[in-house]
Amino acid sequence: MKYLIWLVVLLAVVVWFQRAKKSMLAGSDSADAKAEPGMPPPKSSRSRRSSDGGAETMVQCAHCGIHFPVSEAVVHASGAHYCSEEHRRLASF
Ligand SMILES: [Zn+2]
Repeated sequence: MKYLIWLVVLLAVVVWFQRAKKSMLAGSDSADAKAEPGMPPPKSSRSRRSSDGGAETMVQCAHCGIHFPVSEAVVHASGAHYCSEEHRRLASF
């Protein structure tokens, strides 16, 4: 019975990670490094993006400081990189 609870928790975490990844691409900042302690970060989805072989250049969000692949960056007119459309908008004020 104890294992069933853990299975449900694990499933919820996996679903949460997938939703967070999607909302991050859509422009929300809800996915910022909130990994559960003891849970390894999901690395399997990375191979999907870097199928061209080379390692991606990592950039830092000028608003919150998180590091992420440059292909996911939102670039401001000033040349600054942001992790999401929302952070770019927040920084432009
Ligand atoms: Zn950010």
